[in-house]
Amino acid sequence: DPRLAKIASSIRVIPDFPKPGIMFQDITTLLLDPEAFKDTIDLFVERYREKNISVVAGVEARGFIFGPPIALAIGAKFVPMRKPNKLPGEVISEEYSLEYGTDTMEMHVGAVQPGDRALVVDDLIATGGTLCAAIKLLERVGANVVECACMIELPELKGRDRLGNKPLFVLVSSD
Ligand code: 5GP
Repeated sequence: DPRLAKIASSIRVIPDFPKPGIMFQDITTLLLDPEAFKDTIDLFVERYREKNISVVAGVEARGFIFGPPIALAIGAKFVPMRKPNKLPGEVISEEYSLEYGTDTMEMHVGAVQPGDRALVVDDLIATGGTLCAAIKLLERVGANVVECACMIELPELKGRDRLGNKPLFVLVSSD
């Protein structure tokens, strides 16, 4: 798709952020380009509009940028998957491992129903730990996770393998 080259070139790479040795993929430069941002959303919408998705689950923080416009366009509800102690209502939590230590993801109880067909959205998959936690939360409440969608995959980290049999759709692969 000719739109993908423009999307890929609108992502800025910042070396040594947030710490030495990390090449940070910065999607804020894509947001500055309305055409590239729209093309990004359109590519996801074209893929998911006929898939009967009932809930788009967006992972804090950058899943909150890409998830809602996709949800609105395909007629699905949007559910935020948040860092701990941010959601005011009753939550379920899932702990997951980071490079150093652990983190926790939370989702409101009642936001997702058994039988909901879920799409998980984030900006980037690295090790896959974040998406795994989101999948677990959704499956714990009886949702069917149809697919995960990210703008960027770092294939060297093999996050895709960690998702097991869950399909992963990405726009850009970054080596
Ligand atoms: P994982 O759990 O797959 O190892 O890490 C993915 C999570 O970390 C995502 O929520 C993503 O937003 C964030 N992340 C890790 N590295 C980068 C990066 O280089 N750029 C951006 N934008 N996010 C990153």
